[in-house]
Amino acid sequence: MRIGCPKEIKNHEYRVGLTPESARELVGRGNEVWMETGAGLGIGATDAEYISAGAKIVDGPDPIFAECEMVVKVKEPQAVERAKLRRDQILYTYLHLAPDPDQTRELVDSGVTAIAYETVTGPGGTLPLLKPMSQVAGRMSIQAGATALEKAHGGRGVLLGGVPGVLPGKVVVIGGGVVGFNAAQMAVGLGGDVEILDRDPEVLEKVGTFFESRASTRFSNKTNLEDAVRQADLVIGAVLIPGAAAPKLITRALLKEMKPGAVLVDVAIDQGGCFETSKATTHAEPTYVVDDIVHYCVANMPGAVARTSTYALNNVTLPHALQIAKHGWKGALSANPHLAEGLNVHDGAVTYEAVASELGYDY
Ligand code: NAD
Repeated sequence: MRIGCPKEIKNHEYRVGLTPESARELVGRGNEVWMETGAGLGIGATDAEYISAGAKIVDGPDPIFAECEMVVKVKEPQAVERAKLRRDQILYTYLHLAPDPDQTRELVDSGVTAIAYETVTGPGGTLPLLKPMSQVAGRMSIQAGATALEKAHGGRGVLLGGVPGVLPGKVVVIGGGVVGFNAAQMAVGLGGDVEILDRDPEVLEKVGTFFESRASTRFSNKTNLEDAVRQADLVIGAVLIPGAAAPKLITRALLKEMKPGAVLVDVAIDQGGCFETSKATTHAEPTYVVDDIVHYCVANMPGAVARTSTYALNNVTLPHALQIAKHGWKGALSANPHLAEGLNVHDGAVTYEAVASELGYDY
């Protein structure tokens, strides 16, 4: 199969659909890989590395959209890219169609076969192609929070790990899922005093067993949550209620009871945020202050660590890309029901029930 990977063009997107190592795997199994020149520069991967992996470098995105059977990307295609997609082409990338009627209509009109990373499933209803980005965001949340705690960034001047003779910072992680677990790992590693709240007893048991005495756990109800937040130097918002906006767990009134200069990192901002005072920010200006509390609310945290994120994403997307390249999309999807869940648009129709019902398409 001829597989193409254009340079990402969404604002501040530095990731790339294929690493040189992934290109090599595809080429090694008899495929052609066409990379747009400079596609990997955002992660420090040069054209020369792709060439030595066996890929061909092409000028601009047009040859890829015109001549490749499968286009591999990271972000949803932008309007100029959508205009180039073709009926006999496979698009393999993150799409997030439900809140995006324009993109959905244009993909449908193009006739393309679009497989969305975010709806590919794994055993037990997991979403394995989303998981690495949650791992990245969770780990980054502590790095971002620790920086925001420095005086120069508006924080209360607390070093998370403390030093001999001085207590460590108190880190409260709300939600012990993928983001929360990874945040707690980093906070524990830095020597913080870590508490994890969740309302799912199985999650509490899992994190409790893993961290043992290195972190404490508490059931997430209003009383426990407010008590933990009052003591916190750093709070990580890592909750998810599938299919719903994030619940507002910290009210503006509660900010006044927190320690001045404490930091809130709202990782759930992409679902509307779990603090009443959260509003989405960007990497260019990641924080703002409300009532002496520093807020960090960047919606695409993994973008800041584009190299790590690209490699983490390729680890989970490449096996499916190899399957599609080997068997064609029809063969790959019929052999793998988890991959079949990724099919969102095909031959002028929406083929994913939740997107169809949200946007009023026949299914
Ligand atoms: P997850 O499903 O693995 O974990 C969510 C956890 O929240 C679950 O354990 C659940 O029991 C818990 N929870 C729900 N309601 C709660 C409550 N009231 N109190 C305490 N815990 C509660 O989800 P995840 O992959 O960890 O993602 C968490 C959030 O991070 C999501 O909103 C996701 O979209 C977001 N996210 C953001 C970025 C970013 O760049 N900002 C990147 C990745 C993920």
